[in-house]
Amino acid sequence: IPLGPEESAMEVVLKKIRELSDSDHRDPFMVGDLGVLASRHQAFCQALPRVSPFYAVKCNSSPWVLRVLAALGTGFDCASQVELEQVLGLGVAPSRIIYAHPCKPVSHLQYAARHGVQLLTFDSEEELTKVAQHHPGARLILRLWTEDSQSLIRMSAKFGASLELCGHLLKSARDLGLAVVGASFHVGSGCQNPHSFAQAIADCRRVFEMGRGVGHDMSLLDIGGGFPGVEGSEPEFEKMARVINAALAQDFPEGTGMEVIAEPGRFYAAPVCVAAVNIIAKKAVLQPGGHRKLLYYLNEGHYGTFRVFLRDHVPRMPIVVKELCSKPPLFPCILYGPTCDAFDTFFNEEVQLPELDVGDWLIFPSMGAYTSVMSSTFNGFPPASICYIMGAELRSLLETAP
Ligand SMILES: *Cc1c(COP(=O)(O)O)cnc(C)c1O
Repeated sequence: IPLGPEESAMEVVLKKIRELSDSDHRDPFMVGDLGVLASRHQAFCQALPRVSPFYAVKCNSSPWVLRVLAALGTGFDCASQVELEQVLGLGVAPSRIIYAHPCKPVSHLQYAARHGVQLLTFDSEEELTKVAQHHPGARLILRLWTEDSQSLIRMSAKFGASLELCGHLLKSARDLGLAVVGASFHVGSGCQNPHSFAQAIADCRRVFEMGRGVGHDMSLLDIGGGFPGVEGSEPEFEKMARVINAALAQDFPEGTGMEVIAEPGRFYAAPVCVAAVNIIAKKAVLQPGGHRKLLYYLNEGHYGTFRVFLRDHVPRMPIVVKELCSKPPLFPCILYGPTCDAFDTFFNEEVQLPELDVGDWLIFPSMGAYTSVMSSTFNGFPPASICYIMGAELRSLLETAP
């Protein structure tokens, strides 16, 4: 699919909107720029020089995204047999994969064992019993509970062992003859507080000490995901990286033979894609005091590629594609998706937008993470089509990659 234009995704989107201006078929679409993916990889490695990225496949599992990352040499965080199959199918060595789901179906665990994927996370005694039976040669990573009350999507209720439980789990693993090689955590997706990383890294140091105390050869620290996806969001990635680097220097000083990895998802994928959606219907409502409120019905929504909006709880303003006067009056607006379902809205609140019409386009940047992977065709509305583009340099990298 990828063409080879040296154009940004935004330019390609605007061109396509112009081409569709005479048409009645204004279906939603996305354009992804794989060059952005490569530059995010570069930015990650530059800011966190001691950390090897293992990209979290669930966030955007497009074959193009995975191929580019495989060629760039990242590792991969997989959470199911299908994700393992996808990544192994690209020729990625099993040693570059971590199966980072602490609660695995037995058949998926057996698949990992058969295909030589050794790094697995766990956070319970029951998981250890399963691993001892079905994948005794695994190199286990103990997933720790973290404080994540300030993250957009919290994970600590579902995953992670508390520090108090770790001593017992490490002993149980040893008694079952299993090798624990490290510790991991996830501060929650869209982490708002960089100090969550410092606290979690300090907790991991305690787990390393406990592990060594019962005879495990602890050598791998996995700092998970949670890095910001939308460019310009707070806290800045660079600030987060400084906190992480300082915490690593303090708790896991260099030169001790330690390997540090991370599982970034949205940081890599979010800025890659730009989405364009069309207004298919509109209503104006008079509110008390005579103020106008506008309801816009779009041809994409919660059941398509925009599910992440309600989960993130932060309204993201679209770019309006329309010639408007320099300071157009703004109205409180509600954005609805195309289905008959009442839950099908973009945000749980009003946003301020100018007056628009049926047939007008809205553009949403930073739509590459947790979008198409979560979409459905509910109510007969197919999600936005996607086209990936890349420049000549990346194209030749892919051609020479094994
Ligand atoms: C989802 C997930 C990630 C990626 O999280 P981001 O916030 O997108 O960086 C990393 N690790 C694990 C275990 C995950 O479940």
